[in-house]
Amino acid sequence: MNILLEQIKLTNIPSFSLTRQNRILQKELVDCFLQVVNKGIFILDENVKVLENMVSSLCEVDNGIGVASGSDALNLSLMACDIGYGDEVITTPFTFIATAAAISRVGAKPVFVDIDPDTWNINADLLKKRISTKTKAIIPVHLYGCPAEMTKIAQVAKEHRLKIIEDAAQALGAKCNDKSVGSFGDTGCFSFFPTKNFGSFGDGGMVITDNAKIADKIKLLRLHGAKHKYHHDIIGYNSRLDELQAAILNVKFKYIKQWTIRRREIAELYSSLFQEHISACRLSIKLPLEPDYAYHVYHQYTIQTDQRNQLQNYLKNCGISSTVYYPIPIHLQKAYSSLGYCKGDFPIAEAACNQVLSLPMFPELKDEEVAFIVERVVDFFA
Ligand SMILES: *Cc1c(COP(=O)(O)O)cnc(C)c1O
Repeated sequence: MNILLEQIKLTNIPSFSLTRQNRILQKELVDCFLQVVNKGIFILDENVKVLENMVSSLCEVDNGIGVASGSDALNLSLMACDIGYGDEVITTPFTFIATAAAISRVGAKPVFVDIDPDTWNINADLLKKRISTKTKAIIPVHLYGCPAEMTKIAQVAKEHRLKIIEDAAQALGAKCNDKSVGSFGDTGCFSFFPTKNFGSFGDGGMVITDNAKIADKIKLLRLHGAKHKYHHDIIGYNSRLDELQAAILNVKFKYIKQWTIRRREIAELYSSLFQEHISACRLSIKLPLEPDYAYHVYHQYTIQTDQRNQLQNYLKNCGISSTVYYPIPIHLQKAYSSLGYCKGDFPIAEAACNQVLSLPMFPELKDEEVAFIVERVVDFFA
């Protein structure tokens, strides 16, 4: 009977799910919700301040500024760094659209650099070639929770006096040579979208920075340009992190380290089980790797194979969900056709779009489920 039940459960494994976590934390989450409701202050109160302090101390920077989303964290960072019309900003074509869209939204032009085939992050060795007199900044993305090569990127930025805005939406807690991602740049940007490693019950984001001037500017920008109510120094936005979202995140913050450890355990289990089959030549897939300089937080566990679509379908029929992040590189998106890029311009990113597949990954995923997924992948290639 028990075995039968287990098997029924094993045939419906989501790519990502918060329901197991929410069940465990239900009482704490309901309590914090009620506290905010009873106090009745919903915008920029104690919970946002507490979270700003906790995230900035986790990353060892001076300031954290809660904003409405990860996308806004990028937008406001660019504005606070005075990047706008006529400027160029270098980034990766293999990312979520928000990275490039933020650049376009401030009137600047995104300039792409192909990725490293092993980490899928921007190739730091190719940066210099794309720097022009108009280049003002670099936005590296720590994709799937794997830190980009920040030491090299920071070196290039310093030589050419470029700003760095880190898109760390997928990588809270990740480190590069023992230093937190988000703390290398002029700003670091986080997203609290529900599916991220540290997700809330809606949209939310944060900018971290050691630069007090940038911090002040972002605080102005998120609040209609006002330091004091109804006294508007600049034209700003409405981009705040809600108290309710912050309260939920404050509950979850206590667990972030243990969740990251569990994600890393799951990744290690996937890789060691796959490796047995790869070594025996029964399987030809590329596994994610953790570079020597990196502490990877495995927002995703992503593999690469030229039979991606067939594998995804096969897994679906076995009751296993998997996801493609991302099927189309930014330079080939319709929204960016005006930039005039063609197929073949960034071959590594384009191959990744056709070949990557992210397998189920969330801290509450069970070892038996990981083993079951690996077996089904092996069956597919058998
Ligand atoms: C999620 C994400 C964003 C945007 O964050 P939102 O909170 O959804 O606006 C930006 N960049 C990357 C790489 C992301 O994964």
